[in-house]
Amino acid sequence: MIDLTRRRLLTGAATVGAVAAIGVDVSGATTGAAASAASKQAPGFYRYKVGSIEVTVVTDGIRDAPLGNIVRNASTEEVNAALAAAYLPRDKFPYVFNPCAIKTGSKLVMLDTGLGPEIYAQSKGQAGQAHANLEAAGIDRKAVDVVIISHFHADHINGLLNADGTPAFPNAEVMVPEPEWAYWMDDAKMSAAPEGLKSNFANVRRVFKPLGDRVTRYGDNKELVPGITSMFTFGHTPGHSSHIVTSGSEIVLFQADVSNHPALFVRHPDWHASFDMDPVMAEGVRRKVYDQLAADRMKVQGFHFPFPSNGYIEKDGRGYRFVPAQWNPVI
Ligand SMILES: [Zn+2]
Repeated sequence: MIDLTRRRLLTGAATVGAVAAIGVDVSGATTGAAASAASKQAPGFYRYKVGSIEVTVVTDGIRDAPLGNIVRNASTEEVNAALAAAYLPRDKFPYVFNPCAIKTGSKLVMLDTGLGPEIYAQSKGQAGQAHANLEAAGIDRKAVDVVIISHFHADHINGLLNADGTPAFPNAEVMVPEPEWAYWMDDAKMSAAPEGLKSNFANVRRVFKPLGDRVTRYGDNKELVPGITSMFTFGHTPGHSSHIVTSGSEIVLFQADVSNHPALFVRHPDWHASFDMDPVMAEGVRRKVYDQLAADRMKVQGFHFPFPSNGYIEKDGRGYRFVPAQWNPVI
């Protein structure tokens, strides 16, 4: 008889657990299984093709944050219900980070860089993993020709530097959206900014200073390297940019932070995230982008979607639904 009730199964497990515990007490030694309950995952990278272009998603890890006021216009209960609907724990917001390395025919490109080595140390390896995962994927940071940045939040730019403050991609040109640069480098905007935002202004200046004239600025709808074109998607920040990767007949939209975690903001496009600087504009952009992705059945790569963070957006009721792409064993 099939009986999958949680109550019966957990009662059974408790009995087995108790026996094992007694065994440990008697011997006074920890078992091999307990000792090897290692906390480290396998390296997190994932490859797929867009025509002849090769994408390697190199996860930067995850950080949980208290829910707080992460959604400005929904109650804690509504947000917890959305988390529960995605089988996620309540009262915590999972910040997932997924930068990508992109090999076009002629260039090796990094698209955003993760939280960097400082957070790697601070979080005991839970986040800031991108450099390590690049290495595990066999990608040498010295070989990266171009780093394309979507916007200037720490989770996208801090991996531009090593722990000692030197450039982490020493031979790369760093391409940034012109309006993003103009906003965060504006001293008047910095002094007028609310206290909470001032630290981001300071961080932007800290990160870009050692990069000097390696930084170049790009506009909207510009082919930055062959096969990668900018598409401005403001709202999350004043100069936030997405990127369209095309090769042959294939297209993927790298949407950066058009929305954060899909369980909340794809399902509920009308929810305004506290980290969207212009939430009304962000919502408008999100709806426009997702309506088009859904209509064209176009693939999307979302920086904050669960690893490996690529798939499709469908319309679903008043919101949308993220459908992960299937993994391909050969590329
Ligand atoms: Zn972000």
